[in-house]
Amino acid sequence: MKVAIIGAGVVGIAAAHRLTEQGHSVTVFERASRAAEGASFAPGGLVGAGWHQPWRGLTRGFGQGSGRPGTRLGLRGWPGPSRWAWLWKWRFHSTAPRVDDDLAAFHALSVRSQDVMNDLQDRLQLDHDRSEGLLVLLRTRREQEWAQPVVARLRQWGTPCRELDAAAARRIEPALRPDTALAGAIELPTAGVANPREWALLIRQAAMESGCRFEMGHPVSALLPRAQGGVEVQRAGQPGESFDVAILCNGTDAAGLLDGHGLRLPLMGVQSCSVSAPLREPLDAPISGVLDASTGISITRLGQRVRVSGGRLLSRADAAPDPDTLRRLYDALLDWFPGAARVGGPGSSLQEWQGTQSVLPDGPPLIGPTRIPGVWLNVGHGEAGWSLACGAASVLADGLSGQAPTMDARPFLPTRRGL
Ligand SMILES: Cc1cc2nc3c(=O)[nH]c(=O)nc-3n(C[C@H](O)[C@H](O)[C@H](O)COP(=O)(O)OP(=O)(O)OC[C@H]3O[C@@H](n4cnc5c(N)ncnc54)[C@H](O)[C@@H]3O)c2cc1C
Repeated sequence: MKVAIIGAGVVGIAAAHRLTEQGHSVTVFERASRAAEGASFAPGGLVGAGWHQPWRGLTRGFGQGSGRPGTRLGLRGWPGPSRWAWLWKWRFHSTAPRVDDDLAAFHALSVRSQDVMNDLQDRLQLDHDRSEGLLVLLRTRREQEWAQPVVARLRQWGTPCRELDAAAARRIEPALRPDTALAGAIELPTAGVANPREWALLIRQAAMESGCRFEMGHPVSALLPRAQGGVEVQRAGQPGESFDVAILCNGTDAAGLLDGHGLRLPLMGVQSCSVSAPLREPLDAPISGVLDASTGISITRLGQRVRVSGGRLLSRADAAPDPDTLRRLYDALLDWFPGAARVGGPGSSLQEWQGTQSVLPDGPPLIGPTRIPGVWLNVGHGEAGWSLACGAASVLADGLSGQAPTMDARPFLPTRRGL
């Protein structure tokens, strides 16, 4: 098949590589001049099945009564009516009857993703910053109690996880600050840390070597279904080009391309920040990655850098990194690994960044064909797009091949939302 992919973030590139490997003729259209410059530029880097999925309802207790804003969604400015409607659905999804099914689907996708990613790593021997293992830090006994529903589900689904006391957690991450309160941790040995941008650029190279074409520097402005089948991809100032299928992997911007066809994609852009700083002293840095359950802030080791990441804000996509969120990231670094990174001084190559996650108000991402002939979706991965990218690519590949699927794709079908 002749396939167009719109968007060269980690999600689009993972799909492009998979479909090229399967023998499709793939072209990726990206509006920026370089790949992985959107949400995939500097995310936390947590990858794998486990804590990093929308447990929202189950983990609502975290941060309560601690003076920390926890994992709540912050607002900058008064939301208009459509945002209120979205927020309402988002807030109450965790109590919807089907929430367990949604979490299970989400989890299955992250497991599939990890399998595909491990297979790629074995075959292609990609040289990028990565490490194995993730510790979810629990500051108090109450947090340990709040974590129980998540632990129970992970065990039910067969995901390796171990409850540790503070001493055992400190043996795994010996640089954890000794005087910061820590009741215990959950160890997720099969999750880990990897640099999504480095990975995306390496996989892009591998896809190009297998024949995938990348068209950079022009936004796709419209998708027109053709009477004779397939879809025309249009870009301003460029000739239109016909494809059998066009797959939207362009995050919140996908909504604009569906609007003209009367389909409303309920994606919201949610802003999060990261700070990347050079290592000061490796012995004082995390060995892999930790996630502070009370704040949702992750601290990861990416080669010679430490990255702190978190926050959830409804703001503008082009806004500068939110000062309050950045302050909380620095506080978290000081709280857990005070000597790990050089965050100032001469020659410090500190990077403060804010990116936009494309978030659905409920349910797992949308992956598969829409009601518009020839137009497919791969969007709504929220705060776990890096952990889900390869699984989503695999679902698409199954759908286009028409062969027996490797996993149940029904929970992800856009038709579940009437799209
Ligand atoms: C601070 C932060 C921390 C995060 N931490 C983690 C983490 O630890 N683990 C994890 O799994 N996930 C994490 N995430 C989420 C993850 O980064 C995203 O889900 C993922 O990067 C989304 O990838 P994407 O390819 O869908 O989007 P993007 O990377 O944004 O790519 C979309 C691309 O589409 C292009 N585009 C848009 N419109 C058009 C158009 N009309 N024509 C052509 N191109 C277009 C854009 O230029 C962009 O390059 C984090 C996100 C943030 C912001």
